[in-house]
Amino acid sequence: MAETTRIPYLDEMLVALAQPGCAFCRLLDETADRLVDAILFESVNDVGVREELNAARGFCRRHAALLVRTGGALGTATMMQGVIKVLLRALDDSGIEAEPPSRLRALLRAGGVSGSHPAATRLADALAPDAPCPICVHEATFAAHYIDTLLQQARPGSPLAEAYAASDGLCLPHFRAVVARGLPGPALTTLVAAQRAHWQRLNGELEEFLRKSDYRFQHEKFGAERDAWQRALSAVSGQLPGHLTEGA
Ligand SMILES: [Zn+2]
Ligand SMILES: [Zn+2]
Repeated sequence: MAETTRIPYLDEMLVALAQPGCAFCRLLDETADRLVDAILFESVNDVGVREELNAARGFCRRHAALLVRTGGALGTATMMQGVIKVLLRALDDSGIEAEPPSRLRALLRAGGVSGSHPAATRLADALAPDAPCPICVHEATFAAHYIDTLLQQARPGSPLAEAYAASDGLCLPHFRAVVARGLPGPALTTLVAAQRAHWQRLNGELEEFLRKSDYRFQHEKFGAERDAWQRALSAVSGQLPGHLTEGA
């Protein structure tokens, strides 16, 4: 017990691995959720935070959805007004509205987004983010910590390796990130073997689901494979939204 409390991120990983779905998706969604609260209720007027957000042209779509929460309207309005002002300035600076109609028609014919018109190219550049979504950046930092902890601690027979083996495994994007970081060693070997077992089990459940979906076997009741198609979707693409409330 004393040993596990000294290792950063280990305890929360053990807790997340005991719950359904990809533990990293769960932990990172929780991290993003906490950051959104911190931004909304502490950092709306922080100049650095706002500059970062304006440079990113707001949050990515996945994280923007997190801003829709109780008590978040005022902070979100303030932050989004900052971004909209940046966008308006980009339109003002583009000079496109000052173009004579014939030039504008030529611009539209050129498709605008194709970038063949210098003013359109300039505008497209000015509208593009200069920085990634701040919540994505925060998540990437935590993901790197979780990956390191996993690779350092999941030695054969360790609590983390056992928890991983008993879990649903990581989703493909997160497992790939672990492998990509992968210092060869007993932890990586253990994780690859466990992940193979997860995918094999899922494959078997999908096979059973498909078999029972055949009209000849429709009298057979579905068992644990009932939602295998949903679990496979998450295993391949990453945890689908809404799992925090479902699994918690
Ligand atoms: Zn994941
Ligand atoms: Zn994001």
